[in-house]
Amino acid sequence: MRFGDLPKPKPQKGEVLIKVKAAALNHLDLHLSSAKLNIPLPHVSGSDVAGEVAEINGASRLKIGQAVVVNPAIPCGKCARCEKGLSCEIVTIFGYKTPGGFAEYVIAPISQVYPMPKNLSFVEAAAFPLTFLTAWHMLVGRANLQKDETVFIWGASGGLGSVAIQIAKYLGARVIAAAKDEEDAKKVKAIGADEVVIYTRGNTVEEVKKANGGKLVDVVFESVGAKTWARTLAMLRPHGRVVIAGTTSGEMASQDLSDIYYFQQTILGSRMGTPEEFEQILKLVGEGKLKPIIDKIFPLRNLNEAIKRLEESKQIGKVVIEVGNT
Ligand SMILES: [Zn+2]
Repeated sequence: MRFGDLPKPKPQKGEVLIKVKAAALNHLDLHLSSAKLNIPLPHVSGSDVAGEVAEINGASRLKIGQAVVVNPAIPCGKCARCEKGLSCEIVTIFGYKTPGGFAEYVIAPISQVYPMPKNLSFVEAAAFPLTFLTAWHMLVGRANLQKDETVFIWGASGGLGSVAIQIAKYLGARVIAAAKDEEDAKKVKAIGADEVVIYTRGNTVEEVKKANGGKLVDVVFESVGAKTWARTLAMLRPHGRVVIAGTTSGEMASQDLSDIYYFQQTILGSRMGTPEEFEQILKLVGEGKLKPIIDKIFPLRNLNEAIKRLEESKQIGKVVIEVGNT
């Protein structure tokens, strides 16, 4: 990532120009900065943006200077599912295929821009959209997690996992969270996990059963992939569901398919979420029922340091870039 100057973007019809105040990092930014992705350069990444409306081109209820937050899931508006009001087949992620928020100014479609909840700072507002939407769609939209069910959450101290704990608790489910060591365990407990299993020692599946009164779990929340998949399926009860929205440890895993049909298990893929889900989250965050968790704040100039923190998996909650203090 390089820090430098680009021309100030100009909003086209139906777009808003936002003066960025804060933008949070996601695992996606690591992909963008390392992998051989076919995106035109120079690219500005940053999918989670909070800022002030600087310019509006088109009809909108937004006002100049208003504090806003961007819904990072941009539906295509044309596919069969979009027409039925369901989650889009080919949703575009803001800051991935479009210029993102690690900049002084960014453009967003009017329909993606929402008034920022008044109880939040810009940093807090930048810290919730992508992970909250992703975790909500995984647990509610896809896995249909029920009150009194038990969910096991991998990556529980990370940006996505820490949110999943909060959402699962809000839904009334019982949470068993994965932690890498004792210190990590304390942190995920503080976020709200009922039980913690340290996955770096012993037999994870046996530990999970022990934490669940001798039973396998109803739902597994996956975003780790290759390193955890075998344990994920082994801890899942017959008729249980796995919901997956990421493969941070690698994408190739092997699977005994006979287990899937014999135990009638369901594997659910999940990606981003619907506009209705985003509005629901906005409401719950605004009411203080779900809270963004901030790990560390960096100035825009030090974006590479922030990326390094994410690479080292040291963060609890979100790493956020504050723009303006560069
Ligand atoms: Zn669509």
